[in-house]
Amino acid sequence: MIDYQAILNKIHANVIQEPDKGNIARYIPELSRVNPERFGMHLKLISGEEFAVGDSEVGFSIQSISKVLTLAMAMSKIGTHIWDRVDVEPSGNPFNHLSLLELEEGIPRNPLINSGAIVIADILVSELENPKADFLKYVQDITGDDSISYNLKVAQSEKETGFNNYAAANLLKSFNNLNNSVDDVLDFYFHQCSLEMTCSQLTKAFFLFANKGKCLAQVARITKSQAKRINAIMLTCGFYDEAGEFAFEVGLPGKSGVGGGIVAALPHEFTISVWSPGLNERGNSKLGMQALEQFTTLTNQSIF
Ligand code: GLN
Repeated sequence: MIDYQAILNKIHANVIQEPDKGNIARYIPELSRVNPERFGMHLKLISGEEFAVGDSEVGFSIQSISKVLTLAMAMSKIGTHIWDRVDVEPSGNPFNHLSLLELEEGIPRNPLINSGAIVIADILVSELENPKADFLKYVQDITGDDSISYNLKVAQSEKETGFNNYAAANLLKSFNNLNNSVDDVLDFYFHQCSLEMTCSQLTKAFFLFANKGKCLAQVARITKSQAKRINAIMLTCGFYDEAGEFAFEVGLPGKSGVGGGIVAALPHEFTISVWSPGLNERGNSKLGMQALEQFTTLTNQSIF
């Protein structure tokens, strides 16, 4: 039996000593207000047991981690039709890269880069009656926690500074790959990115990806096959131009966000999340990557 608590404690002690904790994302002004010393980690086993260390109950901006949740919801709504509008190839490029859209005739490389997530947002704006409220309810339901909410200041802050995302959305629109207005789609996208969640809530929300599509309450939210495919996309595309490095160092499907969160899953075994706001040069949590590398090394548990 693995002593998970001892391992989390050891990782915490190791990483907080690191003098270079990376740099907080400042391009969304509201995100720069976070304390760079924060560090939390949470593990949830399929059996239900939980282990935590540090600031695992402190909320933070999940940012691009939300892209996996919108993808799951969109897949449950329109199934394989998604793949007419977005591809599943890793990009090897930063999250906000635009030229891919031109090369692929308006079809983003995958749903976890910004342009792909904007197409998924467009699908949900079309499919949902009250897009922002319905998506929030979906996240609350799969997590089993009604306290989760959008951080409206973060959403507004990104709306005021998200020129790159406006450019991506306009480019998609020019290729007829957005059915709704740029403003409506980006309003939804900025809200989904502003979702505030704790490490503990994230391991619960992502439980369905480790549990063959069934959420914590054992309700099937996506099919087994969809869970398998989303895990494949997280593994190959979840860390932008650092997806190879994450697979190499950690060996789990996962997703990062510029708020400094990372959540990962070992199908049939557990979900794990970590938060440390400082990012490396590729926009992924610096200590978060290190912590997860230590976790899979010390427990000898990864998909490989
Ligand atoms: N909201 C951010 C953006 O679109 C998300 C980026 C991220 O977390 N990588 O720029």
